[in-house]
Amino acid sequence: MKSPIQKYSTSAVDDKITHSQAFSPLLREENARRKTAGSLERWHRASASLAGGVSSGLRRAARPYPLYFSHGQGATLYDIDGNEYLDYTLGWGPNILGNAPSEIVEAVYESMQRGLTFGAQHDLEYIVAEMLTQIIPCADRVCFANSGTEIVQVALRLARAATGRRKLVKFEGHYHGWDDSVLQSYHPTARQLASGDSKPIPEGLGQLAASSTVIAQWNDIESVRAAFALHPGEISALICEPLMCNSGCIAPQPGFLEFLREITRQNGALLIFDEVITGFRLGLSGAQGFYGVTPDLATYAKAVGAGTPLSVLAGKLEFMELLERGKVVHAGTLNGNLIALSAARAALTILMRDSESIYSNLFRRGEMLRDGIASILRERGHKLCTAGEGPVFHLSFTERQPQNYRDLLVADKQKYSAFVLALLDEGVLPLPDGRWYTSTAHSDTDIERTLNAVERAAE
Ligand code: PMP
Repeated sequence: MKSPIQKYSTSAVDDKITHSQAFSPLLREENARRKTAGSLERWHRASASLAGGVSSGLRRAARPYPLYFSHGQGATLYDIDGNEYLDYTLGWGPNILGNAPSEIVEAVYESMQRGLTFGAQHDLEYIVAEMLTQIIPCADRVCFANSGTEIVQVALRLARAATGRRKLVKFEGHYHGWDDSVLQSYHPTARQLASGDSKPIPEGLGQLAASSTVIAQWNDIESVRAAFALHPGEISALICEPLMCNSGCIAPQPGFLEFLREITRQNGALLIFDEVITGFRLGLSGAQGFYGVTPDLATYAKAVGAGTPLSVLAGKLEFMELLERGKVVHAGTLNGNLIALSAARAALTILMRDSESIYSNLFRRGEMLRDGIASILRERGHKLCTAGEGPVFHLSFTERQPQNYRDLLVADKQKYSAFVLALLDEGVLPLPDGRWYTSTAHSDTDIERTLNAVERAAE
């Protein structure tokens, strides 16, 4: 297949090196708008038929407006106006092998010749399941669905069935999909929090009151103890992102995950790790291997499907057998479809083939990028905190290292947004919320080019 890149030869990053004058945020915005007129035109057109002009609400946060892309290759994305970007969004996580990795594309294409979905059994199901049970510590069994939101609901239902209890504990700032039960106290505003009420705060209108959800604070042992003490014998599960990627990539303090393991066990509740982001990003065994704490159940999406719609629940047999016996219902027309499982098999094959060097490079380059950006910004007098692990990290303009969601509220978001806009103008694309993802497709040269662009953006 001929690479489509040859049609678009603009190199925004390199062209920029020749004019490195300082730009004001306004000028940056003007530049970005001028270069992306085709995106604006399309976004206006789309908004007349597609609600908000985007397919997922969070994408509306992009500045100056949501961009339209023509294609991606490796570490690079190309927009519809022919601009080229070093891509650190990676589809919001799934593209851990970069954009359009040939082994995945070929595997999907080959599999598609035989069918898209059977709604019945085929070899890829147990092949992928065997790979997953081999690498995930808590996986005696797995089951498949299509999105992270969906699979989290399977996990929570299983926990309720296993314990005969209704309530769940989740942390403020953690994201587990958009179902009413978990889209609570995700990103509450300072004003919403000021009331001091510890009730779950729904993210938007139309959500049912989450009377079964109890909110705790990340890295705060006492708040977790209080949650269990206030609802004795009622908590079915505690769910968390083992690394709080959706709010500042804040790592668990030493001993915190071990404490969660212990308190759930003592109280007869299940511990669920939502590894939708950390799965296969922090290593083959995900966060549970990385931090050395094994949950009862774990959910996966994003990287496991390498850009196709696939999610996975992995769990211990004593719980998963409720699915096996049909006591707990888990269904889905497209579950286990050939597109997703052929992509998963190809992605896992690549990651398992040479995992040591793959992950050591992913971590080394992630850290090189994060440390490089931090020192450039700090040299220029900006107060910056960085957090995260290797290939997923977060930057915030704040003085004190955040330990939970509330600490992040004081970060200067406007300044970060201006920084992202300047980066866009320099041909570098991170997520709008401070998060950066790196992939196996990013080379040392890509990181160096990015740091050069950061130097110019930092002006
Ligand atoms: N859990 C976590 C930790 C996530 O980051 C996400 C998505 N960002 C989800 C669940 C929901 O996954 P999906 O968007 O596939 O429904």
